[in-house]
Amino acid sequence: MKITDIKIKTFKTWADRWDVGHALPVPKADLMQTVLAIDTDEGVTGYYFGGGSHGDAEGLNVVDQQMIRGRILPLLRGQDPLDREMVWKWLWVANIPENVASVIDNALWDLAGRAFNQPVYKLMGGAGREKVKAYASTYPNIGVPRVYAEHALACKNEGYQAYKIHPHYFWNPETGQPTPGRPSNIKADIETCHLVREAVGPDYVLMFDPWGTYMTMEEAIQVGRELEKLNFYWYEHPMPEYRVESYVRLSRELSIPILSPEIVAGGVFSRAEWILRGAGDMSRIDVVRGGITGARKTAIVAEAYGLRCEMHMAGWGNLQVLGATSEDTSEYYEKGLLAPGVDYDAPHPYLKNTCDRIDSEGYVHMPKGPGMGYEIEWDYIDDNLIDPLALEKKFW
Ligand SMILES: [Mg+2]
Repeated sequence: MKITDIKIKTFKTWADRWDVGHALPVPKADLMQTVLAIDTDEGVTGYYFGGGSHGDAEGLNVVDQQMIRGRILPLLRGQDPLDREMVWKWLWVANIPENVASVIDNALWDLAGRAFNQPVYKLMGGAGREKVKAYASTYPNIGVPRVYAEHALACKNEGYQAYKIHPHYFWNPETGQPTPGRPSNIKADIETCHLVREAVGPDYVLMFDPWGTYMTMEEAIQVGRELEKLNFYWYEHPMPEYRVESYVRLSRELSIPILSPEIVAGGVFSRAEWILRGAGDMSRIDVVRGGITGARKTAIVAEAYGLRCEMHMAGWGNLQVLGATSEDTSEYYEKGLLAPGVDYDAPHPYLKNTCDRIDSEGYVHMPKGPGMGYEIEWDYIDDNLIDPLALEKKFW
């Protein structure tokens, strides 16, 4: 089998979003999505949706698209699409941006799944788990501390097995106004953690992710000590991740597991170095930081050291990696982002199926279809095509 072409369709879609500057839901926000298709001479095509932003719900920008058409397609045309490992290494060495290389790798996995009529996680080797535990992952800035407590209890009652707080970033919950000069609000963050713990009871699993907004070790330690008292499960990405030594010290200082790096560049390579330095207690990766191939490699590196590697963000690709990884290494699926008044579960109009509805016990079930599991609504896509060069209209 040989790759013959790579095509990208850019189209308009919608989903509910959250305005993090003003703590308001944005119902049915206009989104730009892309579907990348890798064609072969045997009539099998692999697809990937997304590559542009959080998770897989937004598309590749025009510069990324031009790189794929102009630089990557000439490299890959004529190659065997099942030589994923060769392509993966090639794109790393060629210094292709991580999200772009990831989209290619993910589409090649979808292609292989369609060629062999198996879901991606079965091709990688299923870990014997047909469903994975989901945690409710909030938007940041969903409101004052009391709003988080009410939301956490609602999520628990809906069936979620755990709840993760993205607290207040660049925003003051008392005034409701953005605070770009002061990224964190630790007083409100600590109050939020106390009220949430009180609302959900002593045994419910809680995580906390200030997304690198604690600019000093003292802030990170002060909040971490509170999380320890409140029996939180993990403390994710508290400080900027390019200061690795501060993570070595923080991990030594606190007993709560530090989950990082989350967003640092370098995929499996930077995560391996963090593990060796003791810069975190659990690792983290997702399928737009080196593709499904890179995420699976990272989970294996963590497993070899007896550490957890928790998958970052929602979406079909991350779910497939979970299906191929033991619960002892990658326990949870991050469902979200969620906020009061945001209908996360509304189906994407470009797909006939949904990826991650939870059952009554809070599990997300593995997709059963071949490849990623997409059932694509081509009529919607073709009726909503947009010119990627003419993106003047404001998309969310
Ligand atoms: Mg996070």
